[in-house]
Amino acid sequence: MEREIYDRDRAGVSDAVLLEDYTSDDVFIANLQKRFHENIIYTYIGQVLVSVNPYKELPIYSEQDIQTYRKKYFFENPPHVFATSDNAFRLLIEENRSQCILISGESGSGKTENSKKILQYIAAASGHVESVESVKDKLLQTNPILEAFGNAKTNRNNNSSRFGKYMDINFNWQGVPDGGDILNYLLEKSRIVHQNANERNFHIFYQLLSGGDEQLLEKLHLKRNFADYSYISGGDILPSTDKNLDDANNFKVVMNAMNTIEIPKEEQDELLDIVASVLHLGNITFGVGEKGHSTVYENEAVHAFANILGIEFDQVKKCLTHRTIDAHGDLVTSPLNRDQSFYARDALAKAMYARVFDWLVETINKSIHTPTSTSRVKTNHVLGVLDIYGFEVFETNTYEQLCINFCNEKLQQLFIELTLKQEQEEYLKEGIEWTPVEYFNNKIICDLIEEKHVGIISLLDEECLRPGDATDLTFLEKMNERLASHPHYIFNSSRASLVIQKLVHRDEFQLRHYAGDVKYNVDGFLDKNSDLLFRDLKEAMSASKNSIIKLLFPSSEFLLSRKRPDTAITQFKNSLNNLMQILASKEPSYIRCIKPNQLQTSDNFDFELVRHQVKYLGLMENLRVRRAGFAYRRTYDAFLERYKCLSKQTWPNFKGNPRDGVQIIANELNYGADDYRMGKTKVFIRLPQTLFMTEDAFQL
Ligand code: ATP
Ligand code: MG
Repeated sequence: MEREIYDRDRAGVSDAVLLEDYTSDDVFIANLQKRFHENIIYTYIGQVLVSVNPYKELPIYSEQDIQTYRKKYFFENPPHVFATSDNAFRLLIEENRSQCILISGESGSGKTENSKKILQYIAAASGHVESVESVKDKLLQTNPILEAFGNAKTNRNNNSSRFGKYMDINFNWQGVPDGGDILNYLLEKSRIVHQNANERNFHIFYQLLSGGDEQLLEKLHLKRNFADYSYISGGDILPSTDKNLDDANNFKVVMNAMNTIEIPKEEQDELLDIVASVLHLGNITFGVGEKGHSTVYENEAVHAFANILGIEFDQVKKCLTHRTIDAHGDLVTSPLNRDQSFYARDALAKAMYARVFDWLVETINKSIHTPTSTSRVKTNHVLGVLDIYGFEVFETNTYEQLCINFCNEKLQQLFIELTLKQEQEEYLKEGIEWTPVEYFNNKIICDLIEEKHVGIISLLDEECLRPGDATDLTFLEKMNERLASHPHYIFNSSRASLVIQKLVHRDEFQLRHYAGDVKYNVDGFLDKNSDLLFRDLKEAMSASKNSIIKLLFPSSEFLLSRKRPDTAITQFKNSLNNLMQILASKEPSYIRCIKPNQLQTSDNFDFELVRHQVKYLGLMENLRVRRAGFAYRRTYDAFLERYKCLSKQTWPNFKGNPRDGVQIIANELNYGADDYRMGKTKVFIRLPQTLFMTEDAFQL
């Protein structure tokens, strides 16, 4: 029981609410540091789990560890992701309350690893029931597939998820997983055509080239050498010892996973055809022909691309060098110049890959969807796990960071609503008086970004849809004009102070986020948001013999004169709002992940780097809110069980009502009237010192 509280000198405190000075981030971080050096990576702030990436395998996830946490009260054992999992799992099964576990943190902090541990726990804890073993297996096998297609080596993380993921796990009436559903967010598709130094494209490309057998590569017209393909050789192509980058072996794992998920062989083949065709597409290049018009170099790549996707060679050439516009019903075709051809090629590669990724998620979903059997008892048995990008602040921030940080603002909003609500509800339920805590409500920033007609998203969409001379800079001007007086919007103007003029450049705007100030450069905003694909490219794709590609580029997209599709950011906004609704209908648990250093090593705790994250994760605020009430609370049963030896009247067995027993102990130890409260089922202790005093008496 609560072993670690006694270890408070060696390994700090297991719950930061027990820190005597809870307002100092130095003290908070020093506690994490102390624990990190003792290989104790988990710490609580009340119910919130803080996890520091150990960057080494720790022996804490075994079958036995699972048993340790199985059916134990949350605070009975040291902090662990299994405790969070078990708590959510039991509330779900025993009280029929839908749960979600929200994992956040910056790249490389351990979000995905923790999310896998949750799944591991659930699969093990829900017992062995023959009929659903295959469902569990499927749920577990969704990971390698999505990681192959959606993860990449970056400078921050060798296995970085380049998409956001929310997964619902459904349970049957016996409390056994019988299906699931995955939602994916904002795949970083720019990576398809460009990688920074020392980074890589998505794993699947390297896996195919390393792990595909001779026959397969021959069929796909591929050579084994990464350097032969321009889309994957821009960054790092050196061999690595990281198991995440054991491409040949991982290819086998992925193909096996596809079998488990029951993706038919023909579809698997077509999927690999598409992966190969993207590699070939990247090797198509252009020259300058008559009148400066672009021409396709007829190299192997063009032939391979046309061949593999089953599109006429001439159509491939034409779609990459021409652009057709529907001018009020008249189709007008004009030639592209060389730069435009490269642009069209890259746009096509990104669209193909992003759509295939969506298709993959949908295909996986079909396979893991819960069977809707008539005998199925309708339950609320759903556990959601959200593994999504944390707040990002780089040297240069742009459109993608705005989307990601907007997402974090929304999650913060939900956190405020749900956590404060939860805290208040507990006091109410227990019949305890409580004065509401002051906190910063970030709704004002969410509104600044998403409010209809006046927010940043609306202004951006307006510029994207405005015919004529709209540019990134006209968009910025519009914002500067309309949002000038907003307290969270800062921009450079001749009237701005010199400090701001120096700080925020003329092609930037700055947002005062809940987690801090971030400058955004507007370069590329319109283009990325419109996300247009020339009609000719869509037409060529819809003519493909590859049935997946054909499905993903339906002719209706260019034949029917439809209303313009929503812009990228509006689609993102809508899917986020949908996610917020899903999450708000559930009871949340939080895991806040922290990366100890930039070097990805196990022996280094970079205090300042951690301070940064503690700030962006809002942990001190979190601690403050939690401490504003009572630092410690336990059910009467649990409290009495531990401390009954402190009074002759309660030892060895107290026959009466546990509440009375706790009262006897409180009296015995001379608790001050304001030090504690007796709720309906729990005792609430205001300050850690009172608990420590109790604990010391116990140790004597
Ligand atoms: P991103 O946002 O880039 O996807 P992430 O937060 O999902 O990052 P992970 O991929 O989970 O980060 O973790 C990065 C790496 O750190 C892992 O590949 C693993 O090597 C190591 N790691 C993370 N958590 C643990 C853990 N609990 N035990 C051992 N190693 C870990
Ligand atoms: Mg990840």
